[in-house]
Parts: sequence; structure tokens; C-alpha cells
Amino acid sequence: MSDNVTLAVNGYGEQVVFDPDSNMVFLLTSCCESTGKGSAESETGVVCRSCYEPIDVAFGTGATLDDGLDSVRDWLETTAFDGDVDASVRTDEAMEKLSLVLTYSLF
Ligand SMILES: [Zn+2]
Repeated sequence: MSDNVTLAVNGYGEQVVFDPDSNMVFLLTSCCESTGKGSAESETGVVCRSCYEPIDVAFGTGATLDDGLDSVRDWLETTAFDGDVDASVRTDEAMEKLSLVLTYSLF
């Protein structure tokens, strides 16, 4: 199993990571650096997998490289960096890091 690679941190202090094993890009919670998990107990339908606190619905989503880099870019800009004033700059930086990681297999 490979470790997740951090691509960026959004305006809420949440890490955007790439998991080489699943080919997915997703967010880690700021409370536990964990992933989201679906739950009927949460207003948003999503809880933190570690502490079970309700969290934003964004944590129930992610992008897969299998759908292409454009779809990853789209998810970053509209979901991971949603609400960040410099969302497009952060998206560019995260995409650049991702392409480096993929080119040199830095995981
Ligand atoms: Zn948590």
C-alpha cells in the first residue's frame, strides 16, 4: 500500500490528497485527517470516519484519475477549493503537483 500524497491544503486547512492505490483525489478532515463516511445520522449525510462528527458533503466526494485530468481539475476547483478566493490558483498548483507525482511516481 502506498501513502497518500498531499497535493494542497484548502482555505479551511483541509488536505487535498492523492491515493495512488485507488487513483482517487479527495479531502481529509481537519479534525482527524481522516476520510468521510456516509451516515444517516448526519445532516449532510457524511461524517468523519474517525470521530463521527458531521462534516461537509464535500468529504463524501472525490475525483478519479480514471475519468481524466480534466475531471480532477473540475472537482478541485468546484469542490475541494470551493469558497477559496484563489480557487483557480490553488487548482493550478494542485494539478502541477499531481502531474509531478504521476510523472516521477513520487509515491
Ligand atoms: Zn474527525
